[in-house]
Amino acid sequence: RPPEPGSYLDGLNPEQREAVETLDGPVLVLAGAGTGKTRVLTTRIGHILATRRAFPSQILAVTFTNKAAREMKERIERLIGESAEGMPWLGTFHSICVKILRRHAELIGLQSGFSILDTDDQIRLIKQIIQAEGLDDKRWTARAFASQLDGWKNRGLTPDQVPEGEARSFGNGKGRALYEQYQERLSILNAADFGDLLLHVITLFRNNPDVLAEYQNRFRFMLVDEYQDTNIAQYLFLRLLAQGNRNICCVGDDDQSIYGWRGAEVDNILRFDHDFPGAKVIRLERNYRSTSHILAAASHLIAHNEGRLGKTLFTDVVDPEGEEVRVSVAAAWDSEEEARAIGDEIEALQSKGHSLDSMAILVRASFQMREFEDRFVTLGVNYRVVGGPRFYERMEIRDAMAYFRCVVQPADDLAFERIVNTPKRGLGEASLKLVHAYARANRIPLMQAASDLCQTEELKPKARTTLRMLLADFDRWRDLVPTMSHTELAEIILDESGYTEMWRNDRSAEAPGRLDNLKELVRSMDEFESLAGFLEHVALVMDRDADGNNEAVSIMTLHSAKGLEFDTVFLPGWEEGLFPHQRALDESGRAGLEEERRLAYVGITRARRRAKIWFASNRRIHGMWQSSIPSRFLDELPADHVDVVEQSSNYGGYGGGGYGASRFDTRDPFKANYSTPGWQRAQRAQTQGGAGGGGFAGRMGSGGARQSGGPRMIEGELVA
Ligand code: ATP
Ligand code: MG
Repeated sequence: RPPEPGSYLDGLNPEQREAVETLDGPVLVLAGAGTGKTRVLTTRIGHILATRRAFPSQILAVTFTNKAAREMKERIERLIGESAEGMPWLGTFHSICVKILRRHAELIGLQSGFSILDTDDQIRLIKQIIQAEGLDDKRWTARAFASQLDGWKNRGLTPDQVPEGEARSFGNGKGRALYEQYQERLSILNAADFGDLLLHVITLFRNNPDVLAEYQNRFRFMLVDEYQDTNIAQYLFLRLLAQGNRNICCVGDDDQSIYGWRGAEVDNILRFDHDFPGAKVIRLERNYRSTSHILAAASHLIAHNEGRLGKTLFTDVVDPEGEEVRVSVAAAWDSEEEARAIGDEIEALQSKGHSLDSMAILVRASFQMREFEDRFVTLGVNYRVVGGPRFYERMEIRDAMAYFRCVVQPADDLAFERIVNTPKRGLGEASLKLVHAYARANRIPLMQAASDLCQTEELKPKARTTLRMLLADFDRWRDLVPTMSHTELAEIILDESGYTEMWRNDRSAEAPGRLDNLKELVRSMDEFESLAGFLEHVALVMDRDADGNNEAVSIMTLHSAKGLEFDTVFLPGWEEGLFPHQRALDESGRAGLEEERRLAYVGITRARRRAKIWFASNRRIHGMWQSSIPSRFLDELPADHVDVVEQSSNYGGYGGGGYGASRFDTRDPFKANYSTPGWQRAQRAQTQGGAGGGGFAGRMGSGGARQSGGPRMIEGELVA
């Protein structure tokens, strides 16, 4: 039974109410973070049902993640109860498109039970096609072409629509032919890749007006969350469907567009008016999430971007406990101390009665998670990694660990199985089966079996050579264990096995992050005595009960935090090169910097009551200490709303390593300065920081010098 019209509208402000009640015609809600855009969408679905304008199954609602879809489903259930008339079509673009495709697969040359290709299969297939075209697959790699394909598909381009110049630029002018053959092979295999899901539906709609009309009639109302991050293909899909009754409501925030690197087009927002003439554009200006300090900090920061529509935001939110804290900026000596200090803060909050569920750590790059995960395991603080695997569960980390395990424990069959053909060494299934059978028959480990078989004629010569070389590698690495430092050895293993190389040649968007994770893995081994000791530690961490029901701190990347909110948000690693990320700056220049700044805006605006920013003065990169420069974003925060917090001096404080202050040499500044009272360094930072142009730490230093050592709060002098 639908709810009584009215009750659920109480509490909405007039603009929100207008967005909920304007059911006919296109509506664009363009508004900043925390203004209730998602809430408007959910309430709107409730309103459509309450006023009986449509059955649930006649509503299409698109969210950005599956998690967001689940949450919206729950909210709607709370609003309307379990409806006998089913639920709206609610999910990501991909999940909705799969549902449509399964019904009409034969119209685009597939059968309904088609499979969705994973990346491995996709790469293998592309490689075959590249070779079949007589191209050198080292010069024209499968991964490079996969990412090219992805780009085309995100733009809604079928093989015949790819612009001539682009088609020519790959594979000696054979780009288009490769794309065509790839699609043909997929069709024979009855498979689609991820990008096809949208592209096929667009093709389906374009070539079958009757099918399109069916869906245009079915979906009386369409709703889209996070509209600023739609790509062209998604946009085309929406436009085709909405051309029917034009009842489409999109909500978004141009300041939160953070997927440009994956083909999202913030221009879709600007085009909305043009494509849907007469669209009603509604702006929401009242933020219901964050205290005024948090909102002011975020607004001030994002104002440094040039390409934005601009908007006003205000808030009446007050801290229920009257704490009203400013955004804090704190420095740690290094990333280990950063994790330790944040861990301490979390325990302190917990002891004051705050739930772990209300806290989140938002990192720029996934490698940063490792330090926090290790720390939480030590402390016994329950945590969950949202939107991705835990650090040690990542594919590249598991692969690398498998190599190390094979070195330390030659009988570890699972590990051997995992890496025997990773990177691809051209070992066929038949050869591997033979090794398995031999091992089983003789009750010996796989590696032993492989070695024995290499002495016989049973394996094909090529497989025999390949296996022999791999086994010789392992023997050599094993011999190095007693003499070489285990971190050095780890690097050698990853290099000589070709594993690092594999990711270096990979052009996919995730590859650079995976390489960073591998570096972080090697770095983290430093804290242990030996390879074996490290492996044992990881086994223990992995064994930790992932306790789904208990409260837990959330750890996630800034990208996966979109749309979420927490009382307390920790934002570590605000250092130049990490955030803004060097790659974004190198690859996209000013646009890249602006996208990074939007990411910072997303991060701060996740906080309801407390936003705590951190940076580490030193990071160890390739075993060398390097002093890091505090992020330029720190300089862009408004002084009136920020507290600069100094750590207790026995952590080492921040003074000397900072921006504009003396740079530590790379010997081992941590040891050399560990016991120096913080305020001395602060004083040095004051004099040298001034000379260095008044960077952030320099100015922090001038605050620090006014007081003696020990823990304290200093009001930031952020304006030089
Ligand atoms: P984001 O841009 O981060 O996705 P949003 O605009 O989607 O944010 P919501 O998540 O919908 O914002 O709302 C932010 C918070 O404010 C939520 O906790 C929501 O329940 C609350 N909220 C929204 N509107 C109101 C209202 N009229 N009265 C009380 N609380 C509200
Ligand atoms: Mg939202």
